[in-house]
Amino acid sequence: MKPHKQIKDWGLGLTTPLIIAGPCSAESPEQIEKICLEMKAENAVPQLFRAGIWKPRTRPGSFEGIGEEGLKWMEIVRHHLNIPITVEVGNAAHAELALKHGVDVVWIGARTTVNPFAVQEIAEALRGSDVPVMVKNPMNPDLDLWIGALERMHAVGLDKLAAIHRGFSDAYDKRFRNKPNWSMPIHLKRVWTGMEVINDPSHIVGKRDGILDISQRAMNFGLDGLMIETHHDPDNAWSDAKQQVTPKALREILNSIDFKEPLENMKPDERLEDLRRAVDHLDDQLLDVLQERFAVIDQIGEHKRQHHLTVFQSGRWKDVMESRTQKGVKKNLSEKFMKELLYSIHEESVKRQEKQLREADAVKKA
Ligand code: PEP
Ligand code: MN
Repeated sequence: MKPHKQIKDWGLGLTTPLIIAGPCSAESPEQIEKICLEMKAENAVPQLFRAGIWKPRTRPGSFEGIGEEGLKWMEIVRHHLNIPITVEVGNAAHAELALKHGVDVVWIGARTTVNPFAVQEIAEALRGSDVPVMVKNPMNPDLDLWIGALERMHAVGLDKLAAIHRGFSDAYDKRFRNKPNWSMPIHLKRVWTGMEVINDPSHIVGKRDGILDISQRAMNFGLDGLMIETHHDPDNAWSDAKQQVTPKALREILNSIDFKEPLENMKPDERLEDLRRAVDHLDDQLLDVLQERFAVIDQIGEHKRQHHLTVFQSGRWKDVMESRTQKGVKKNLSEKFMKELLYSIHEESVKRQEKQLREADAVKKA
């Protein structure tokens, strides 16, 4: 991938892990001032201050952002904290206004990253500026869309780039507001060398509890910073009230995180420990996927039972074996391993479905 400037070279004095904090939405000059003063008092001043000025709300009628007026309040942040500021831009007009008001960094939101027309329009509006751009992952887990948005920025000469992992919407898994998919940011880092990925635990978790846990996992995986929504009075925030934390809580979260050093800087033992932790996390994911797979298998079993179909369908089995083995081999897994794995998963599936049949029979007879 093309060379780009990393966060430390954006000319803003930023370092990694980059800590970004500030309210979901700018609401009033008083709100911005209170947040800044509390950040200072609680020793929770981030490196970069965030505020949403235009809010892409899922449903109309919610607070849709204060608009241009809010950009003027960013002076309050400069006055009290003297740190750079980032806002979300969702179209060309937003991008132009952000530049006009001297915003230091812009970010592209998840609902915008999915739309190449909007992303291109923003890229054109920013062309000729030197503004750093952070691109959130799209709503759906599509790595190419994410990379594509970064490429559109790069193609107009914007080379100060970073990505943000904010999780993906998931129709079934309601443990998260937006389910994290740790393989995706890691794969992005693999395919675009040097691309830094900030984690946004606030939009992943959707509530205050759990922000620390997700932040720690992001650091374990080697992501490059955190964006945490912070408000002086979260319960009364005009948007995302459930997930914002106070500056005091932000300090506690940051103090509790075990920030990792990059693997290259570590002594051999530490390196091994870190690799093992990564394996532990991946195994957790593997188990989650298996759990989901067997839940679907049980639904298929119920369908077969209702329609008097046999549990074992040899045509389907052959297709599954062949296609998965081929895919596995392409992913550098051995054919023998793929076959053993598939036999084992299939055997368990058949046993579960057969058990469903027996249990249903027993109920009928009783
Ligand atoms: C936000 O950061 O306030 C926001 C709207 O996030 P996302 O684009 O990740 O939903
Ligand atoms: Mn928000």
